[in-house]
Amino acid sequence: MGLLSLGTPLTWEEASKYADHVREHGITQLLNIWNRYKARSGDKLLWGDEIEYIVVAFDDEEGDARLSLRQTEILAKLAHVCDDLPCGPKNAPVPIFHPEYGRFMLESTPGAPYNGSVNDLLGVESNMRFRRTLAKKHLNPNELPITITSFPRLGVPGVFTDPYFDPANAQASHSLFLPDEITNPHARFPTLTANIRKRRGSKVAINLPIYFDTNTPRPFIDPTIPKDRGIFPEDSEAQNGAALENHIYMDAMGFGMGCCCLQITFQACSIEEARRVYDALVPVSSIMLALTAGSPFWRGYIADVDCRWNVISGAVDDRTEEERGLKASSSSSNLFRIPKSRYSSVDNYISQDKINCPSYNDLNAPYDKDIAARLLENGMDELLSRHFAHLFIRDPLVIFSETIDQDDSVMSDHFENIQSTNWQTLRFKPPPPGSSMGWRVEFRSMEVQVTDFENAAFSIFIVLLSRAILTFGLNFYIPLSKVDENMERAQRRDAARKARFWFRTKIYPPGEERPRDPTNEVDLPTPPSERADGEDDLIVRPRHKGDCGGCQTHGVFLADERPSTPSADDYEELTMDEIINGKGTHFPGLLGVVNEYVRTLDVEYAKKIALRRYLNVIKRRADGSLLTAATWMRQFVASHPGYKHDSVITKQINYDLIKMVDSIEKGKVKAPGFLPEDYVGSIQDDGGCP
Ligand code: ADP
Ligand code: MG
Ligand code: MG
Ligand code: MG
Ligand code: MG
Ligand code: MG
Repeated sequence: MGLLSLGTPLTWEEASKYADHVREHGITQLLNIWNRYKARSGDKLLWGDEIEYIVVAFDDEEGDARLSLRQTEILAKLAHVCDDLPCGPKNAPVPIFHPEYGRFMLESTPGAPYNGSVNDLLGVESNMRFRRTLAKKHLNPNELPITITSFPRLGVPGVFTDPYFDPANAQASHSLFLPDEITNPHARFPTLTANIRKRRGSKVAINLPIYFDTNTPRPFIDPTIPKDRGIFPEDSEAQNGAALENHIYMDAMGFGMGCCCLQITFQACSIEEARRVYDALVPVSSIMLALTAGSPFWRGYIADVDCRWNVISGAVDDRTEEERGLKASSSSSNLFRIPKSRYSSVDNYISQDKINCPSYNDLNAPYDKDIAARLLENGMDELLSRHFAHLFIRDPLVIFSETIDQDDSVMSDHFENIQSTNWQTLRFKPPPPGSSMGWRVEFRSMEVQVTDFENAAFSIFIVLLSRAILTFGLNFYIPLSKVDENMERAQRRDAARKARFWFRTKIYPPGEERPRDPTNEVDLPTPPSERADGEDDLIVRPRHKGDCGGCQTHGVFLADERPSTPSADDYEELTMDEIINGKGTHFPGLLGVVNEYVRTLDVEYAKKIALRRYLNVIKRRADGSLLTAATWMRQFVASHPGYKHDSVITKQINYDLIKMVDSIEKGKVKAPGFLPEDYVGSIQDDGGCP
């Protein structure tokens, strides 16, 4: 989460009165940023990851793994420790730990963004390991930070947190399953929870299909849903249609925002470059969701999906019945039918490059006409105006009474209020007023991985892919409706091995096609000339001549002026292996273009080989020779002696699973078929943590 303002949050009744005020001033703030920074260029590649952890408290006598609710104390301690640290590994600035929605969660980021050097790329894993070790050292002896996406027993009957709290007192969520104490106590979070429920007019309702094993009752009618509770008016919703048969039902924001992910933010040279990379990564986001799938277990059951995406989407779905199209529009305040939750996939491509054909923007993405007109009148182009006017159909959910009036020339809180509660697969981040940061793109779809080796691998892959996109002028456009189809397919059980996804195969600019290298290795063909260490920046060489405003190492991507005509032949349905590792003679696959990019770099051969170790994770997850975390966890449970093939994750199975995840991460237990054979565990390499 970004900045947490302090103050008094308004109830929904109060906050809704200020919705137009926040939108109006939010747009003023955006326009101020636009006018100030639209011509900014020459920013270097800086980038960083965000890793989220679940803090698990083990009770070895009981054989139980529960969620530790000590976030506040842990963060205070870590902040203190970080203040006292001279520096991190290799003199890197000390890491930053952030609060998250769940009181059982932590988030960490590098102390300062990485730069655009191969050395920094190769230092990502130790930076992540350092952060994990640091967190570990300052937890209680029975606690561990675990990087799995969803906690399998969040919301089961009985005890799943440490200490125990009864859901009967869940004043913010009114959940049947989750006590409010699982939520970060900062006023922002319970208010967000309550205001989503109030705006929507009911509790959120998430239904994940159950995985039917041989002994799972058919139909599956969940016996753990309380039937006769009469504490909150919403208690009867489950019986009155909100909970579906054959599904795992969840009724609170915590089920979604309690999930852990891996995000990557990178700075672009200019706004044009940011818009170009943003668009190119939109189709990639659904693919990476499937490839990082890690959340098959929910509220004590095995689901038939492998990913968190639809859970979070449902968990913050504040749309009214009218907006969801369930009820005829009655009041004049209901302006829009809104097809998707505010946590959803991207709804608009935004690049002005000619290869962004209008027909690719084929989603029904309602936008605020007045806001769009205002942005246009003030000089913003059509595509970007649409993008922001679409984000601004949402209401601000949390408003602090102390910050209603802001100086729009120096602040951006009203803008950020709406912007940062549109949780999409990518986020286009404008420079904050007065900061040194440039235009940035955040890649948000990936699930967190069990080890920092994998987390580093996926981070490195995405950053290199962004460089390849710019260097070769790659075209990944497909209609957004196809991307949304991919998002659904990505979440299906074992999608990385079984599903097919729409992906573009004509990716090179006309006349610049290259043959595919079927070996798909960074070090082939023969290594290019070598240079001394230190001159190893991730250079993007402009494809066309141009001035990039003084950016030394980075170059600028110049838009392709040649108009392109979209054709259905440009994209096809491919397997994950084909998308990553290539197909036929001319589609190199995403790893193929990354390898091709790495080959263009004047970097020591040894460093390319070091990079290959990470890139091989991507290659092998895609070709099926390594399993996703989701599939590996399913296999672990299926072969657990206590598993009755009834789709239930018992206390014992949960305990053994999380212990095993920890042993694998540490390197105490080998996990062939899940991690590469040469994986080095954190007991051998703690990232240089003092
Ligand atoms: P949020 O939660 O809003 O996405 P965080 O502060 O948690 O933001 O994470 C932002 C990430 O962006 C961090 O990894 C940080 O290192 C990185 N970062 C910081 N400054 C820049 C910059 N100028 N360009 C690119 N990335 C940056
Ligand atoms: Mg986070
Ligand atoms: Mg963050
Ligand atoms: Mg965040
Ligand atoms: Mg944030
Ligand atoms: Mg983020």
